[in-house]
Amino acid sequence: MNCRHCNNELNHIFCDLQTCPPSNAMVKKEDLNSPETYFPLKVFVCEKCWLVQVDEIEKAEDIFNSDYTYFSSYSSSWLTHAQKYVEYMTDRFNLNQTSKVVEIASNDGYLLQYFKQKNIPVLGIEPTLNTADVAIEKGIDCIVDFFGVKLANDKLKGSADLILGNNVLAHVPDINDFLKGVKIALKDDGVNTFEFPHLCKLVEFNQFDTIYHEHFSYLSLTSLNTIFEENGLEIFDVEELETHGGSLRIFSKHKEDLTKLVSSRVGDLLNLEANLGVDKIEYYTDFQRKVENIRDQFQSFLIDQKNKGGKIIGYGAAAKGNTLLNFTGIKGNDLISFVVDKSPYKQNKFLPGSRIPVFGEEAIREFKPDFVIIFPWNLKNEIYNQLSYIKEWGGQFVVAIPTLEIIN
Ligand SMILES: [Zn+2]
Repeated sequence: MNCRHCNNELNHIFCDLQTCPPSNAMVKKEDLNSPETYFPLKVFVCEKCWLVQVDEIEKAEDIFNSDYTYFSSYSSSWLTHAQKYVEYMTDRFNLNQTSKVVEIASNDGYLLQYFKQKNIPVLGIEPTLNTADVAIEKGIDCIVDFFGVKLANDKLKGSADLILGNNVLAHVPDINDFLKGVKIALKDDGVNTFEFPHLCKLVEFNQFDTIYHEHFSYLSLTSLNTIFEENGLEIFDVEELETHGGSLRIFSKHKEDLTKLVSSRVGDLLNLEANLGVDKIEYYTDFQRKVENIRDQFQSFLIDQKNKGGKIIGYGAAAKGNTLLNFTGIKGNDLISFVVDKSPYKQNKFLPGSRIPVFGEEAIREFKPDFVIIFPWNLKNEIYNQLSYIKEWGGQFVVAIPTLEIIN
C-alpha cells in the first residue's frame, strides 16, 4: 500500500484495531439473522509526508450510502459552534449578499442555515441524499454528489468566496483530488477553512475511538502544510479549537494570492508539532500499546460490574462507541444492556458488530442504570447535564477515554 498523498510505500503501522463493520451500518431488526461485513481497520503513517491514513478498503460510495444516519443538527453544542463560526467569518472576511459560501459535506444544513439567515448566498455539497433532503427542506441549495476536480470544473469554477469543510478533510479518500477541486472552485481572493480533529490530541489523549473506516486520514498541521502547498494552496492561519477533543481550523488561500499575510500562528504551531516529534517515526510507534491498555481497562470494568450485579447502559450510538465496542470485543447485551441515542433514525436498531440494541432516552428512567457510559466523550458535559437525573437513583457516568473514569 502506498501513501494517498505522496505515493511513498507505507511501512509503519500507527494503530491496528483488527476488524469491524462500517460504524454507521446500523443493523435493522429484520436483518439480525444476516451476516455483517467486517473490514480490517489498520492505520499507517507515511514517513515522507507524515500523513496518517487507513487502508482504502471500501470505496467512499459504499460507506456514504443512503442509509447514512449521521445528522449534524442533533447536537446542540455543535449547532452553537456552527453559529459562532458564521458570525466570525462574516465579520473577518466581510461576507455579504454578493458573496458565495460553499460548504462541502453540508449534511442537513446545520451550518449554512445561519449564513442563509444573513442573506448570504449558500450552496451545500452533500453526497448522502437523505441528509441533503433535510437541508433542501430548509431552503438550502444542495448538490447531491462527492466533491472533487470534476464537480468543481463542472459547476463551481472560480465562484466561491468561502469554501468550508468541517470534519470532511479526514473523510476524503483522495485528498489531492479534493484540494485540486478546492483550488478550482475558489475565487482569486477567496478563503477556505477546514476543521478537523488534531492528530496531536488523538495521540496525547488516546483518542483511538476516533479511528473508523469513514475516516481516511488523521491530520497534523505538519502533514497538511505540505499537502496544501503541493496542491497550490497556502495555509495562512490556524486556530486551535475545543471541538471533538481538540481540533484545528486552518485558513488557506491560493498560493498566488498575496493580499493576505501569513499569521505567525502557523509557524508557531509547526514548531510545537516538531517539538512533539510529529516528524519522527517514534512519535507514532508507541500508540498501539496505549490503546491496548484502554481496551483492557474497559473490559475489566464491565466484567467487574457484571459480577457485582451493576446495570450498565451506553449513551451515543455513533462511530466512537462502535470503534471502542468492536475493538473491545463486546457482543450482545449482557455487559451493556442497551445504548440510548437522540436520533430517531437509530432507535430500535442495533449497533454494527456488537449488536447492542438502541433505544430512545425514555428507556433510561424505566431501566434505572447504575452506570451510563458516555461514548462521545467530546460531548461529556452536555450529556452529563442532560442526563443528570440518573443521580436520583444513584446512577453514575463513565468515560473510557483518555483513561477509564467514573464521574459522579
Ligand atoms: Zn506520504
